[in-house]
Amino acid sequence: MTERGEAMPRETGSDDAEQAVFADANTSQAVVDATKHQGLASLSGFPFEVRTSASTREQAVRLASRCARAYSFLGETLAFRPRCTLLVLDRADWAERASNPAYVMPYYDAGNLFLTGEPSDLTAMLEEVASSAPPAAAQELDQVYGTGTDRLMPFADTLVVHELAHAFHDGVPFVFPRSWLMELFADMALYAFVVAEEPGERLHFETLPRVALQYRLLKPVARDLRYFEAFYPYIEPLTYVWYQFRFTMMAKGVVDAAGPDVLRRLWEAFALTDEQLARVLGGQVHPEAGQWLARWDGLPR
Ligand SMILES: [Zn+2]
Repeated sequence: MTERGEAMPRETGSDDAEQAVFADANTSQAVVDATKHQGLASLSGFPFEVRTSASTREQAVRLASRCARAYSFLGETLAFRPRCTLLVLDRADWAERASNPAYVMPYYDAGNLFLTGEPSDLTAMLEEVASSAPPAAAQELDQVYGTGTDRLMPFADTLVVHELAHAFHDGVPFVFPRSWLMELFADMALYAFVVAEEPGERLHFETLPRVALQYRLLKPVARDLRYFEAFYPYIEPLTYVWYQFRFTMMAKGVVDAAGPDVLRRLWEAFALTDEQLARVLGGQVHPEAGQWLARWDGLPR
């Protein structure tokens, strides 16, 4: 999930806070909102910044380690490495810092990956769904996840890679023509990573979505993409999960058929450099428009 569809302007806070929001000079690097980092512990040794609540340090190391493997995999596959920060938060810090105080969904916003360091309400909701499954579905779930408490944590822990994928497309000028395609890209990145780098986790990742769809365990309030586009990202959590499960299975179909490198082709179809944008503006709008970016600093303010 991303906060791209946010309707309200972001709070800018004090002058100091504004200065802490830093951006590179050109448009090809994400902005990282460092105002969310203050007061959190810092973990070193990762190719990105990691901040954590005091009580979630252990989970932060686990999530950051997987994220580092995914960063390397996606960096190789997409030939790009974004700047980003992992924020692993307990409930109290989440309530203070996240855009939505509900401790449910991890999400990406302005260079920050907001991750839950304690078992989230999403895991609890999914467990409720799983535990009310009919016998045939329950048997399939039990075989993969067992029957213990927090059995869906291995599934929930993979979602960090989905959020990381958002940092990648946000790190270059990127034009996804639909929100659902942006989310599908993040799901494809996650599935491709699991297949290529953590094949032992594959069943943990794909079984819940497959079984939930096959046995209609979720009861989405809508099923069409028009609804998704209209209300994204403000969609009721289990309906949102239903859409994500559909996207995951669509991504799986393509990756299984074409291999994990197909992610690169999806990326290249929609990444748009400043040079490409200038060519489109110059060729399809007006030669003068093709110079807008190059002449930015010289234009009257
Ligand atoms: Zn997403």
